[in-house]
Amino acid sequence: MQFNERDIQRLIWTCQWRKERIDPMKKGAEYFSNQMDDLIHKLENYKEEMDCPDCWDPHGTCQIHA
Ligand SMILES: [Zn+2]
Repeated sequence: MQFNERDIQRLIWTCQWRKERIDPMKKGAEYFSNQMDDLIHKLENYKEEMDCPDCWDPHGTCQIHA
């Protein structure tokens, strides 16, 4: 199984959305926030790595852009 570009973008948005809603008064908030940052960073790297140069069909059969 592989995530496509749109999946990754949605995951990044979801992490950012969740991170913005961390309650700073809660125990472990900073740790959780750092973990979200780490996850967002990984997803952004993944998105860059999966970029397909010379994509033959970004809106059709390409599995990455699907
Ligand atoms: Zn593509």
